[in-house]
Amino acid sequence: MSEVIFERLALIGIGLIGGSIALAARRAGVVKHIAISTRSADTLRRAEELRLGDSYHPKAEDAAADADCIIVSVPVGASGEVAAAIAGSLKPGAIVSDVGSVKQSVVRLMAPHLPKTVHFVPAHPVAGTERSGPDAGFAELFQNRWCILTPPPGTDPSATEKLAAFWRALGANVETMTPEHHDLVLAITSHVPHLIAYNIVGTAADLETVTQSEVMKFSAGGFRDFTRIAASDPTMWRDIFLHNQEAVLEMLGRFTEDLTALQRAIRWGDGDALFDLFTRTRAIRRGIVEAGQATGVAEMTTEPAKPV
Ligand code: NAP
Repeated sequence: MSEVIFERLALIGIGLIGGSIALAARRAGVVKHIAISTRSADTLRRAEELRLGDSYHPKAEDAAADADCIIVSVPVGASGEVAAAIAGSLKPGAIVSDVGSVKQSVVRLMAPHLPKTVHFVPAHPVAGTERSGPDAGFAELFQNRWCILTPPPGTDPSATEKLAAFWRALGANVETMTPEHHDLVLAITSHVPHLIAYNIVGTAADLETVTQSEVMKFSAGGFRDFTRIAASDPTMWRDIFLHNQEAVLEMLGRFTEDLTALQRAIRWGDGDALFDLFTRTRAIRRGIVEAGQATGVAEMTTEPAKPV
């Protein structure tokens, strides 16, 4: 049994990520009490039915009161409102964190509301699935995945280390970087790939020369993997693109240039250019598999699917 890291953990937002944190923290034995709050009565009731926590609070400030660590797991665009709601009930010395997929916006939205007496350590577990809601959570989600911490300058290193120890106990590997760098890295590794998936599935849906039933029937030819990513939560992904605008546009610019070069190679029958690129990309895939961030079997995701 691990040592308790937080006596009282408050989870504000209890969908896929909040629910998985609850299950993983309980299993690791690193928290004594889990206090849960979420916006809707239905989700709160469902979290209770699933026994994700020890206490359930319609108001975020009641869950956060007396907590040693508060993790906000709501869409990025809603994180500021949550910070404003809990600010008055935070106990001095508490660690306030989040799990948002964009970090500069979260810092901008949350930090102004938080009292100087708490430690603000934003985080992003780079793990997930296309499913949402408390039923989607599972304890293994963070196993061998990365969790990126982006503590603002001047953050007490012991608070950062305590949160890092918590995420390690949940099975994650922890890395620290600036919010700016995080947003750039995630733009190319997660955000643009999702945009490509949303776009290609949308393009296929609009085709007139290929029927919808043909798209379904022959989807194993690559399309199926895109449809799984394109099934990801619309609210969450809308917020990601609105809040990581600059980095996504920068990466999209590069992507478009490279796509044009590929288009040209195909038009001019430049097989060597195509072969060279595909050889390089195959090596990257092998590197990802060797790093334990994907299995060798057919799949295409920036984040792992729930084990069945
Ligand atoms: P989710 O399963 O859809 O759960 C969302 C939670 O946020 C629910 O408790 C929901 O409350 C609450 N919520 C939604 N809109 C809200 C609003 N406007 N104000 C207050 N609360 C609101 O989402 P998730 O996948 O756990 O994602 C949560 C966060 O994790 C996001 O910031 C996302 O960027 C980040 N993240 C997601 C993944 C992933 O793959 N899914 C991976 C890493 C990080 P009700 O149900 O009560 O309305």
